[in-house]
This record gives sequence, C-alpha cells and structure tokens, in this order.
Amino acid sequence: MSSTLDPEDDYYDQLADVLKTQRTATQNAFRRKGERPNDFPPRTQVVNEFMMAALSNKMRKDMMQTTVIGSPYAPSVTSFKDLKKVMLKDLAVETNHRGSYLLLRFICPAMRMTAVMNIAEDEAGTVMPFALYFQDPESIRAAESILKEKGVIILKEPYFKVGTNGQYAVRVDQPTDIIWLSEDDPRVPTKWRTTSASAQNTAEYWKKKGNNLVSAGKLFDAIEMYLRALRSSPNQEEEEILHNNKALANLRIEAFDSALDDVSFIANPQDRSEKGLYRGGLALYGLRRFKEALEMMQILVRKYPESAPGKSELHRTRLRVAEQESGIYDFKALYKATKLRPPLMDNASYSGPIEVQSSPGRGRGVFTTKPVKAGELLLCEKAFSYCFAAPPKEMERALSKGISHISVLIDVPGNRTTVGTHADLIRDVSNKLARNPTLGSSFGDLAHGKYQGVACASVDGSPVVDTFLVADTIHINCFGCPLTSRDMLDDPELYRASKYKVVKQHKTSKLQTTGIWTLASYINHSCNPTTERSFIGDLQIVRAARDMRENTELSYEYIKRVEEMDKKLSNGWGFLCDCALCVDERESSSSLKVQRRKLIKDFSAPNTSNKKKKEIIKEFNKTFQHPSSEVPRIELWDLHFSLVKDLAKRGEGEKVVEQVIAAFHSIGFLLKGGQVLPSRPSTIVVKRWGYPHQGATSAWLTLRNVYLSYGMDELAEQAKEFARITWMLQVGEDTTFVYDNPPKE
Ligand SMILES: [Zn+2]
Repeated sequence: MSSTLDPEDDYYDQLADVLKTQRTATQNAFRRKGERPNDFPPRTQVVNEFMMAALSNKMRKDMMQTTVIGSPYAPSVTSFKDLKKVMLKDLAVETNHRGSYLLLRFICPAMRMTAVMNIAEDEAGTVMPFALYFQDPESIRAAESILKEKGVIILKEPYFKVGTNGQYAVRVDQPTDIIWLSEDDPRVPTKWRTTSASAQNTAEYWKKKGNNLVSAGKLFDAIEMYLRALRSSPNQEEEEILHNNKALANLRIEAFDSALDDVSFIANPQDRSEKGLYRGGLALYGLRRFKEALEMMQILVRKYPESAPGKSELHRTRLRVAEQESGIYDFKALYKATKLRPPLMDNASYSGPIEVQSSPGRGRGVFTTKPVKAGELLLCEKAFSYCFAAPPKEMERALSKGISHISVLIDVPGNRTTVGTHADLIRDVSNKLARNPTLGSSFGDLAHGKYQGVACASVDGSPVVDTFLVADTIHINCFGCPLTSRDMLDDPELYRASKYKVVKQHKTSKLQTTGIWTLASYINHSCNPTTERSFIGDLQIVRAARDMRENTELSYEYIKRVEEMDKKLSNGWGFLCDCALCVDERESSSSLKVQRRKLIKDFSAPNTSNKKKKEIIKEFNKTFQHPSSEVPRIELWDLHFSLVKDLAKRGEGEKVVEQVIAAFHSIGFLLKGGQVLPSRPSTIVVKRWGYPHQGATSAWLTLRNVYLSYGMDELAEQAKEFARITWMLQVGEDTTFVYDNPPKE
C-alpha cells in the first residue's frame, strides 16, 4: 500500500496547497491546449534565468523533492524513420506531437532539481527550458553526465507544456523517448559538431578513455567510449576485450541484459576468456537466473581452476540455487544483512507449493497446489524493486550531512499526494526496465489502473518503458514495509515472552520503505486471511496461517480497518471485499452495530465486575448470526484478554485457560483438549485454525505457563509448539523464537 497522506499528517496542509496549485496550473495550461505561442523570451533572458536558478539551487538546503505526475501520455513507439523533424516554434501547448521529433542541443551546464534540467536549442537558435524526469539520483549519475553541455539528442514525439509559473518548457516524463546521439552520429548537424567528433582515433585510444572513466566511476560515459572504440575498426582480439570491459561497466550500472550481450560476443561459453565467463555469470546472477549463472561459473572453474573470484562466485551461486529449490534460509545471516544500507538481501526467491490462477471476480490470485500445514513457508520473495526509507535516527544523521531527502509525489490526475519513497520506486523500476528489458514481463503482467499505456516493447532496437504505466502499476502493487517485521511487534505480552527488546523503527509510518514483489502481488485481500506475511530487509515471507487443502486461495489482510476498506479497495484494486466478515458487516443493521459498540463501552467502564464482563461477552456473542468459524468475532479477543489479565493476577489458572481458549474460539479456532477442568487432558489439538491474531503467540505462551504450573508438561510442550508457529507467521522465522516468560538470562 502506498503511504497516502491523512489529514492528521504534519505535511498535509502544505502538500494539499501544492496539490491545489498544481491542479489549478494544470487546468489553466489545458485551457491553452493546442495554442502555438509566439511570445518566447529571448535567448539571453532564458539562459540568464537558468543560470540564476542553478546558482540558488546550489545554495539551497531544502531536502524536499517533489515529483509531479501530470496528465499521462504514452511513450513514443514510432520508428525514427517515420518521424518528421519540427522546430521549437512549431510546438503547441499541452500537446503530444505525434509523428514529429525535435533535434536539440544543450547549451548550459545541467542542473539537478527533481528533474534534470538544462536549456535546449534547436537548429534555428530558439531556446527552451528542458526537464527530464525519473533519472538516477546524483550519487549514481551526475546531472552533467545526463544532459551534457553541447550534448545533442533527438526527442521523439515531444510534449510541450506551460509550467506553474507560466514558463514554457519541453518536459520529458518518458525518458525512452530520447535518442542519445554520440558525437560522431551522422544525425548531428555539422555546425554542432565538436572537434573530437570527427577525430579519427584508434580503438585503443577510445578504450583507454573508457578505462579511465571506469576508474573514475563515470560508467555511463565509459560505455559511450567503448561503443566508440567498437566503431573504430578494432581487431578481433581488441573487440573481445572491449566487450568484456563494457560488460564490467554495464554490470556496475546494473544493465545486466547488456552485460550478457557483451560477453555473448563470443557465442560459445567454452571459448570465452576468464573475464568473459566471470562477467557473464555475474550478469545472469543479476538477472536472478541462478541455474544458468551456476553453469557459467562451473565452466569458468573447470577452464581456469586457479580463478579465486570464480571459485568464490561458484560457491555464492550454489547457495542461491539451494535456497531457490529448498526454501531453507540462514535467518541469522539475514538479520545481520539488514544492517546493510540499503538492506538488500543477497538471496534467491523461493516459491513453494503455490501457483497463480484466475480468481473469479478478482482477476488473478495465488492458490495452493497441494495441502499445506499452518506455518508452512509458501513464498520467500526478494523485491523486484525496493526503496529504503532510513529509520528516524539514521535519517537525522543523513539530513545533517545533507545526503538524504524527503520525497513527495504529487499525482494530479489521481488527486493524491504521497510522502516517502514512492516517487523513487517509480524512478527505479523505470530505469531497471529500461536497462533490463528481459525483466519486463514479470512487472508488466501486474494489475494496473485505468491508464492503458503501452506494454513494454522496443523500437529501433531500443527498449520502450511507459513511466505512467509503471507509476499506475506501482500505485496498486507496492507495499510499505518495516526493516524487519520483528521490529514492529508491539504486543506488551510478547515483550515479556521474548528476550528480544522491541524497538519501533518508524515513529511515523508515513515516511516508509516501499517495494514491489511481483509474485506476492497476486495474493488477494481478505479480512479473514489464510496467510500472514513478514519482512526481513527486501525479502517478503509468506506463510500459511491455516491448514489448507489443495487449490485453496491464499489471502492476506492488506488493510486492517474494516470501515475504510470498502472505499479503499474499490478505489485501488477494483473490487469490493467479499469475505464473510465484510458481507456480515454490510448485512448487519445499524442498530446492531450501535448495540455492539454499547456493549464494548459497558465492558470497559471502570468498576465493571468480572461477572458482569462475562455476561457482556455472552450478550455480544448473541449479536452474531453466523458461527465464529465463519465470521470471526475479532472484537471479542481483547475482551477475553482483559479477563485473562485479571485472573492471572489472582492466580486462577483454570479460569485463565478457559478465557484464553474462549478467545481462540471467538476468532474462529477450534481447539480440542486443553481445558484443565473438569479433568486434565494430555493433548491440545488445533482442529481448525482461525483468524491469525497478532496476540496469538502470547496467548499460546500464557497457556503453556499455566500448564507448566500444573505440572502438565506434555500440554505445555504442545502449546509452545503452537506459539512457535504463530511467531513464525508474524516475524517470518523461528530462529528468534524465545518462549521463556520471563526470559531466563
Ligand atoms: Zn473483508
């Protein structure tokens, strides 16, 4: 879920104003749609204003980055040869110029705001501010390496707009609409050619330039030099080296598809050099094709037995293949790895006995392919993309060094504002898809909203990514998540049951980490779910919350607040929740709801006796027409536990057990055995699992403690085992499960 703003947020007023300003500006601009302006300011004015803005931008310490999503338009999918050149003065306001292209040169040093900005000129000398959105952050690629001064581009089917300040600008929201021209590209007009453009240097010369740029960390520029070297008639041996060097630069910018293409210059892996095999293996690893990566590393180690990096990669790749096949993870190592920034886990995804199928009335869903037991691991999925929001303390440190920022997404057509990492996720997914088109299908298959857009394709051999479609898909499929689910436990009973000291990572849940998990995205919502999910870094862990038969649909409770749900679900996912809880909620009369609220109020009133409380619970139960196995009575859990606390204080163990078991029954569990009155059984069995309540682990541990106090060791052991299962449901693993209460140090 996205972290859309609520009125109680601090930023709300400020951002609501920004959203309003943007909406008004958009409306004003649209009134001029199609108009061809003839009041372009003169060149010197445009350049001076830009230079002034660049200067004050450098001085700014403002950490808020605002991304505005305007009216969506599809990226260009027309081949360059079918487009006609137009000039800046030919452009019409708020129009997407289909069938045309602009040939532009940048005339200033680029500036980084939310967009990368420069001033572009056309061959007629007309100048215009130029804004390119969704670019890598400065730390990955400098603005000046993107919109280079004197750099020449072709912008296919340009969009011309009027900004909030009434300024004209060419705005690019679809970065794949740009054809980046090399200095020596014949489409660069003679008058724009630099001296180095026509230099007839050797492949060796350009290769050295490329190598120096790699050493300087300027990878994008290095790739350009290697391409130039490849165009300078290298011999076969040089060509292989150039491809291998380019593969290295491509690996570093995570363009794994291109890196793989580079090493495939030598078609047969057996004929590749050590570097070629190694980099090819890493590219496959980056694409998460672990089995193929393993084969590559095996060839490498056979051919070059002394290769130390080869042996180490072979080992690492073997671990991934094992995880992928077995679903066995080293959770202790995973927790250690969450200290990484960002906390991206070096792990493979495991997909258990599940598959995606169509789910009547709700698109697609995920179903079991065989019977599974409560607690069983169904999915452990690494994020397709993940944007980490540092915990508050780290954020303070980062802000003091000026390295972090608050990112705001203003979605004008969607009329919503989002604070956090949402805008960064759109940027990262778009760049990932542009650099790795083979990953397009897993993301492109996800559900999206009303915007149709174009599916991932390529034109003239270059990938096409539709940023608006990415944004729309992310809005529906992204999850907010904690650094680890264990950090989020806030049940005080559980603190006592665990040695682990619970620290909340995010004081405000609104500034949160977000990610996309493509397979987990297909799990539909239910308020009475069949699974629980948890997070460790960018791994999402999904476990069965119940025993399930083959072909049971997995569901997860995405939104806890029943009241808000009808609205949110029909807005975002395009269906109403039809779980038994929601149907019951809709069918229950308002007088019944008033009655329930009154009973809860009476229950919590001071001085309500335990006898009275028990009567209230009885009354409350009478307000339900369906059994708790069908419609769990979640409100009752807290009422029973209010009694449990009191009875435990008085040392009335039998009654504690009675209330805990009643609490389980109220949320749909069916337990057999376990009562200590009238006789003491030797087993407690879960005949049916109910609603996966957050308090379940402490409830089981409470039972265990009572059983122990009565010397019922066997039962205590069984209760502990159920506590272990519910702990796993909540935090993902049982390595950290500590059951002594209070903990033994
Ligand atoms: Zn529901």
